[in-house]
Amino acid sequence: MKVTQVTSKVHLVTGTNVNWAIISDGDAVTLVDAGYPNDGAALLASLEAIGRRPQDVQAVLLTHAHLDHLGGIPTLRAEHPVPVLTGATEVAHAHRDYLEQISPVQMLRQCGHKAGIVWVAQTLKAVLPHANMSVPSAAPVAFDERLDLPGAPIAVSTPGHTTGHTAYLLDEEGVVFTGDALVTAHPLLPGPPRPQLLPHFFNEDETEMRRSLRVLGELPADVLVPGHGPVERRPIGRIVGDLDTDG
Ligand SMILES: [Zn+2]
Repeated sequence: MKVTQVTSKVHLVTGTNVNWAIISDGDAVTLVDAGYPNDGAALLASLEAIGRRPQDVQAVLLTHAHLDHLGGIPTLRAEHPVPVLTGATEVAHAHRDYLEQISPVQMLRQCGHKAGIVWVAQTLKAVLPHANMSVPSAAPVAFDERLDLPGAPIAVSTPGHTTGHTAYLLDEEGVVFTGDALVTAHPLLPGPPRPQLLPHFFNEDETEMRRSLRVLGELPADVLVPGHGPVERRPIGRIVGDLDTDG
């Protein structure tokens, strides 16, 4: 677990190949995502590392209901029954009314190269005992308005990676939490970190993803905090423009 200060109010935490973020507003905290199921202890430790307690957390904002983003929630809620919020469509995913995830066949296909084998081994270890985890407490959040939560984040509908994927904007800080709608690195992506889409087999609908990228590109933000990979400090409009040029 590694904690990086991004702005005066935002910390990025890296767990098992995945990020979550801590938004601080005085003593109060909003979390964005919660890591893998085996990141639960690291999630609590990351709060302690910046001098906060589970009781300070007012809500977890979920970008999407994949196991690597919701896994730490039961550990946190065992300490403090914090609300979990995400876009209405993604709420059904968090309840496991339906499931969108990489197929076992696609996962096996990654075992043809070394980085893939390492990723599959780490993922299975992080997931297997908890493969049926759901978050029954998840509830819908309103889009496009300041939420009455620490940092006053704004939920932005960004479907594609999952059908109900939701990004979050802290407009006062110029920070956008893009989840897996736009990442900067992943064990299965070659080359140095740069803003990019996840490999296609992770994504439900890449046409929708491209549409959501354009929505992200309109946001007043110059700090990108992704679900995977390091922070990128550049106006989001320019990041998205460069991606379009790259195809
Ligand atoms: Zn992810």
